[in-house]
Amino acid sequence: MTSDVQKTAGTLYIVPTPIGNLEDITLRSLRILKEVDLIAAEDTRHTKRLLNHFSIETPLISYYREKEIERSEEILRRLQEGQNIALVSDAGTPGISDPGAVVVNLLHEHGLTVVPLPGPSALTTALSASGLTSSGFLFVGFLPSKKGQRQKLLSSLSASEYPVVFYESPHRIDSLLGDALEVLGERQCFWARELTKNYEDLQHGTLSSLLAKSLEGRNRGEFVVIIWPGVKEEVQGQTVEELLLWYRDNSELSLKDVSRRLASDLGLSRSQIYQQALSLWKEKD
Ligand code: SAM
Repeated sequence: MTSDVQKTAGTLYIVPTPIGNLEDITLRSLRILKEVDLIAAEDTRHTKRLLNHFSIETPLISYYREKEIERSEEILRRLQEGQNIALVSDAGTPGISDPGAVVVNLLHEHGLTVVPLPGPSALTTALSASGLTSSGFLFVGFLPSKKGQRQKLLSSLSASEYPVVFYESPHRIDSLLGDALEVLGERQCFWARELTKNYEDLQHGTLSSLLAKSLEGRNRGEFVVIIWPGVKEEVQGQTVEELLLWYRDNSELSLKDVSRRLASDLGLSRSQIYQQALSLWKEKD
């Protein structure tokens, strides 16, 4: 006799959680966390606090980096039995510099349904406030902790035409900025610290000015760091300085408008061009 209850497989929901401010969780995320049979969490104690805040009583299992393979098998089995499961990390979007990819790949292999929910991520939150005008960016996430490996990776990024985005923890921000300055030379840089929290801090500057600030030691917290591409020395045989001088001497455009136009034409940082233009305009006065 065949079973009259034909079980259909469940769904894995990828659920982003707040990166600081609890109000940032979406209504859909809250509903899914309530409705699923189980929540797989990077740190169950951490997620329990979030669930308590919203009076959600769904049971938890742990899903963390060291146990990703083992736990993925268990999640697969439970989904095949018909359970619905939500995957969360400690903060932000699972799978973005966080555990998640192993189970997602396994489920794709088995043709199971994975439903990603939009929501908080430090990456997009920082980018939205960075004033980035380029059409793309390169997301690296965390650099290796060993200096040699970190510098090697930075060096491989030196010719990137795209701004490069890093994640960094409070105790390594000095190393990131210091090594970047050493390997890449002076660059425009932006940091987004403690996003959505009380001491949220957004700063534009050069690598050396932000390094000086971080060395003052008052900048604790989580960081997203964006480093702009280096200024190209030559554009079709003309240096940026030559182009600026041409505009200065042959056009009616203001210093600001020239900087804006060249930055957009050449895909360079406007503030960096502006600084260069400022000294050339001063020379003329
Ligand atoms: N999956 C998460 C996401 O989608 O943003 C990222 C997790 S990763 C383990 C943690 C890193 O994200 C931190 O070290 C920091 O670089 C960045 N981050 C997380 N929360 C942040 C915040 N409130 N402000 C700035 N950066 C943050």
